[in-house]
Amino acid sequence: MPDVFADLVGQDDAVDTLRRAAAAAAAVLRAAAVPPTTDAAGDEWDALAEEADGTGAEAAAVVDPGAGMTHAWIFTGPPGSGRSVAARALAAALQCVRGTGCGECPGCHTTLAGTHADVRMVVPEGLSIGVNEMRALVLRAASTPSGGRWQVVVIEDADRLTEAAGNALLKAIEEPPPRTVFLLCAPSTHPDDISVTIRSRCRIVPLGQPAPDAVAEVLVRRDGVAPDAARWAAAAAQGHVGRARRLARDPEARKRREAVLAVPRRLTGVGAAFDAASALIEAAEAEAEASVAEADAAERAALETALGAGGTGRGAAGAIRGAAGQLKDLEKRQKSRATRAQRDALDRALVDLAGFYRDALTMALRAPVAPVHTDTAALAGAGAQKWDAEGALRRLEAVLECRAAIEANVKPRIAVEAMMLSLWKG
Ligand SMILES: [Zn+2]
Repeated sequence: MPDVFADLVGQDDAVDTLRRAAAAAAAVLRAAAVPPTTDAAGDEWDALAEEADGTGAEAAAVVDPGAGMTHAWIFTGPPGSGRSVAARALAAALQCVRGTGCGECPGCHTTLAGTHADVRMVVPEGLSIGVNEMRALVLRAASTPSGGRWQVVVIEDADRLTEAAGNALLKAIEEPPPRTVFLLCAPSTHPDDISVTIRSRCRIVPLGQPAPDAVAEVLVRRDGVAPDAARWAAAAAQGHVGRARRLARDPEARKRREAVLAVPRRLTGVGAAFDAASALIEAAEAEAEASVAEADAAERAALETALGAGGTGRGAAGAIRGAAGQLKDLEKRQKSRATRAQRDALDRALVDLAGFYRDALTMALRAPVAPVHTDTAALAGAGAQKWDAEGALRRLEAVLECRAAIEANVKPRIAVEAMMLSLWKG
């Protein structure tokens, strides 16, 4: 039976680090003779450091930053490298009641399923994580773990914390409750992603882009994908494990990818460039709408049911005012989530497109590199002949600039139209 780290594809160094951390944390729990009290924080973390570096009581004053376990971690790496998979795996290993992440016990199982009472997952649905959400989280995280092990807080996309939320989190990380562990995920430790002060308190686990072979292997082993299809999907997804799985299993995802890769040959003039921009934006909107529609409807129905139970007695006017506020809140949250989903869908399309022009560039340079998109390799080859390396590179840069512009909050339609014109003109 594979343990909780088995799904962390192609990240051997990180897995080593995390296994050691889980072992050190388990040793601390074994050593703890009495339940932790809230003022024992320092002792607890000193004990962790000793446990990890094996120096024991003599070195109690020295907290080794390289020790096996610590209370705050940042997982960094490109999208799809497995940042959140790594964070969840460590969370499970910390809650494992049999060992250090067996993958089978109730601790591992409930953590991975998202139902463990002492593991809180923050998965931002909108464009940022607000301060109220963070304060509530920090407060709950300070309580004694009900399972007697650790309180674990996983924050996916920690780069989307608002400044105020970041400050609330920083306070908790600076004065960690005795049994609380913070696991943050972010693209990098650049100050744009994670504040320098938070970063300085955390241990960093860098994840790389997994090799296509490693991605293909996990698709075959875990998802039962046929080896040929797995190899194709792993290459087409450019190291993004989740995307590779979707491409291998979801015909709609494959269709959307094909439509995106048809763009280069459709760019025959200004009109066609604008048409292609519209098509790309609309496809992203449709994909995003499909992905959030179900959750939106369920949330709204649940809220309406809750509010509908209010009755018409005294205080009903106040209740109605409150209800309007709650509905407005919900609509705001849902709008933010929809925007985020649209951007994600558009970004996936742009990554596919960048892969096409990268293929054209490597072919123009006759570089001995396997193409990203084997199924459009012939088309990329034709592009390479027509544009030469320089033209292919300019087009690749146009796609990357479009991604950067959208990231910097340029309206997607404007950025995509500018990109299409550059792709046409070269
Ligand atoms: Zn376990």
